[in-house]
Amino acid sequence: MDAELQRLVWQRAEKRCEYCCVPADVALLPFQIDHIIAEKHGGLTTAENLALSCERCNSHKGPNIAGYFEGTHVPLFNPRQDHWADHFVWDGPVLMGKTPVGKVTIEVLAINLPYRVALRAALIEEGVLP
Ligand SMILES: [Zn+2]
Repeated sequence: MDAELQRLVWQRAEKRCEYCCVPADVALLPFQIDHIIAEKHGGLTTAENLALSCERCNSHKGPNIAGYFEGTHVPLFNPRQDHWADHFVWDGPVLMGKTPVGKVTIEVLAINLPYRVALRAALIEEGVLP
């Protein structure tokens, strides 16, 4: 991936995970550039298919492009096509899904694992997260 494309992804995301919103400069592990539609599903390395992701979100997401919710396959949140606030809302450090897309994304990316919630609670206390 060329440096210009990487720079665009980082700038566009304002150096935050586009799924869980954790800022890169306080993350324990280096951020990654996620193929929203994984390469194994034909996803391209283009600006329209890339998102900045924390290591935790990206590693749980893997090549997944959907989740299973109430008997139906539901696509994961797509940072290039979906508006974050339409699908998610904070309840303190816990991320809540407002839609099936939000709910399956939280589940598949394991966004509310206890240690992740604890990290966000600490960031809220420090004023780093809203
Ligand atoms: Zn994340």
